[in-house]
Amino acid sequence: MEYRIALLPGDGIGPEIVSAAVRVLEAIGAKYGHTFTFQDYLAGGCAIDATGEPLPAATVEGCLASDSVLLGAVGGPKWDTLPGSIRPERALLGLRSALGLFTNLRPAKLYPALAGNCPLRAETVAKGFDLLMVRELTGGIYFGERGRREGKYGPEAYDTEAYSVMEIERICRVAMEAAQKRSGHVISVDKANVLETSRLWRETVHRIAAEYEGVEVEDMLVDNCAMQLVRDPARFDVVVTTNMFGDILSDEASQITGSIGLLPSASLGEGSRGLYEPIHGSAPDIAGTGKANPIATILSAAMMLRYSFALGAEADAIEQAVEGALNDGCRTADLAAGAPDSLTCEQMTEEILKRL
Ligand code: NAD
Repeated sequence: MEYRIALLPGDGIGPEIVSAAVRVLEAIGAKYGHTFTFQDYLAGGCAIDATGEPLPAATVEGCLASDSVLLGAVGGPKWDTLPGSIRPERALLGLRSALGLFTNLRPAKLYPALAGNCPLRAETVAKGFDLLMVRELTGGIYFGERGRREGKYGPEAYDTEAYSVMEIERICRVAMEAAQKRSGHVISVDKANVLETSRLWRETVHRIAAEYEGVEVEDMLVDNCAMQLVRDPARFDVVVTTNMFGDILSDEASQITGSIGLLPSASLGEGSRGLYEPIHGSAPDIAGTGKANPIATILSAAMMLRYSFALGAEADAIEQAVEGALNDGCRTADLAAGAPDSLTCEQMTEEILKRL
């Protein structure tokens, strides 16, 4: 099969980690008989420098004409003082909306070989964890009505959260389907003791869950969830939640795995095309030094194979190669507490390629 992949390397370490993932995809293609064709497009700060805007129309067109999209990261100090409307991060919101991506999937697991990197208590680490955060991506308070006005105590600002039944139903179905392929347990996170949107969320989640045989739903208030994630992450499997709660909780979940350089993500819509990217940013502090960990981006490419191209065996092969490298002691600087013999981005990629 032939697959067209749009590459958006972006800024900072973006080009280094995307080229690592391309090497892995090319190796997988050669091994399993697939052809991946790659086309680079500008997004983020580099796009602002070249065209004056963070997400040029040619990039959106290129992504829409491709089978899937792999993004490195965008942003950096050079563009920090620009007004909000032309900041590099606008490219991300623009891509989500242009590609209709309403689901964000973020797996977070503790690799046994990296147990020593986990900041949690030893008895919690011993239990391990492997969870999948399913975050609604295009609704809720980040997209609601907002503004400034004169209030009871003078000038004030407001943001509103609104969720339609349709938006809750479709993200809920993604979580239920994921749960059927995992342990069948979904934790739905809301704030139903206070928010009306959460009460609608809870009602809808239970109604939809009833259609999925073998799936059990547990409700959890967001404040409790924030606590349970560090107290007992092993009790989580699939977590489904709103845009803002998911934003915060998925960052929390990432931190307990040991390094931000390990975690992939997928943003999906109705069709098979998705946007795949590491959860970390452009790491300007280490850009160009060779210290970037390519694993999060390589695992994002594996998610692309699994979710966009239904190439499960190929995705498994990449994930096993990554785990094999970690089990054999391969460490980039972020995983080795800066030890002098840590591997560069390129060396870590070589180690993963050797194990494919
Ligand atoms: P960051 O994730 O870029 O970096 C945080 C810390 O983690 C840094 O010390 C960095 O060196 C380290 N780190 C991140 N990825 C790593 C990797 N693969 N290997 C080794 N170490 C890694 O977050 P930040 O410093 O807050 O943001 C830097 C820039 O990235 C900002 O402009 C921010 O807006 C942008 N950003 C972009 C995205 C995105 O493109 N999706 C996400 C978050 C932040």
